[in-house]
Amino acid sequence: MSQHSIFILDDEPEIGDYVSTVARMNDFESRYFSDPDEFLSAVATSPTACVAIDLQMPVLDGIEVLRRLAEQHFRRPILIMSGMDLKVLESARHFAKAHALQVSDIVSKPARVDDLNRVFGRLKASHQLPPTRAEFLAAIENNEFVLHLQPKAQIRPPLEAGQCCIPLGFEGLVRWQSPTRGLVMPDRFIPLLATAGVSRQFSEHIFDLALATLKRWKEAGVEARLAINMSASDVEDVSLADRLWSRCIGSGVDHQRITIEITESAAMEHPETALDVLTRLRLRGFSLSLDDFGTGYSSLVQLQRLPFGELKIDRSLISDCTSSQQTGIIVKAIIDLGHNLGLSVVAEGVEDSETLDLLRTWSCDLVQGYFLARPLPPEAAEKWWHEHAGGEACPH
Ligand code: C2E
Ligand code: CA
Ligand code: CA
Repeated sequence: MSQHSIFILDDEPEIGDYVSTVARMNDFESRYFSDPDEFLSAVATSPTACVAIDLQMPVLDGIEVLRRLAEQHFRRPILIMSGMDLKVLESARHFAKAHALQVSDIVSKPARVDDLNRVFGRLKASHQLPPTRAEFLAAIENNEFVLHLQPKAQIRPPLEAGQCCIPLGFEGLVRWQSPTRGLVMPDRFIPLLATAGVSRQFSEHIFDLALATLKRWKEAGVEARLAINMSASDVEDVSLADRLWSRCIGSGVDHQRITIEITESAAMEHPETALDVLTRLRLRGFSLSLDDFGTGYSSLVQLQRLPFGELKIDRSLISDCTSSQQTGIIVKAIIDLGHNLGLSVVAEGVEDSETLDLLRTWSCDLVQGYFLARPLPPEAAEKWWHEHAGGEACPH
């Protein structure tokens, strides 16, 4: 019997059969349902199956199915399929997240075999048991974590004639190249670090990777800043600033080139401790950036007490700002708010030139996103820098 099983819900039998066949080709035991009630009762009595659901169905739509899965406390991976545009798929993902459901992937229909193969590959990986403390520690020891680097570039004046932006540095985004699990993206394992009890070891390791990167850059003449991400558990640890600082000593790199990005929700979880930890980091000379702004529920009073120098607007807002007037108004207001609080404002997730132009007219300071470059492996990032620093970074 296969180790993996999947229940597929779609009102169109041809699609159900097709997805089911590709699932079997990928070693899944699969069952297809066209009736949501039958599907839900099968799910309730099968403790290990993951599910694939169509969003548009005549009797019970996909959102209602998600709601019912949440009521059943369904905790296995969910694959969402739909012929609707990506925005609807993203909204469904947000809905699922808000109900503590785990969406492993979203697929636009009609899905090609290649796409489905990739999705089932990832589903198998996420179906594996979570890594243990020992596995994480071994992964650190064996250097399986790699920082991919995504450029951050300034778009506000002064720019030279004809220049669209000035690259200032990179954000380091971790990937886990596991020999047994394959390439694991951060969203899949960062939330598991705290449960495994390795948050501190992990963040120190990421910090060491950042120092090694800056050292390599120094030798290669890459004069870039480097941002790294820290989690909520780091911000709760009052020894963080001293620990990071002691790792800087003797490394020979200018630690003032390091920016530490902390999400709005992490900073606001324990605002008093965060104030302590962040102030110490600032006093040690690290720059601080407030990440994913616009997704949490920050109190502006608390926000302005924290020593951030930069505010990053979440990509869910940026991706909508050309198509939705309301989102545009919110983004513009956040940029003005950031400036009024003396912060530099970064837009993340900029995917096209229209969005970049709009952000420029709103006086946004920096951009980051696929339009400039995807997160790049270390060598490719150095090459990118040599090709674009001081020159033209926007693609034509
Ligand atoms: P984040 O800090 O908000 O990072 C930005 C995420 O957006 C990255 O996902 C990046 O690949 C993606 N992205 C960048 N530009 C675009 C774009 O134009 N369009 C779209 N659709 N996406 C874009 P990634 O690499 O999967 O990282 C996910 C999250 O994992 C990060 O979100 C960050 O919160 C966390 N993370 C990454 N590395 C680390 C780390 O070393 N430590 C900690 N604690 N968290 C990390
Ligand atoms: Ca970040
Ligand atoms: Ca972010």
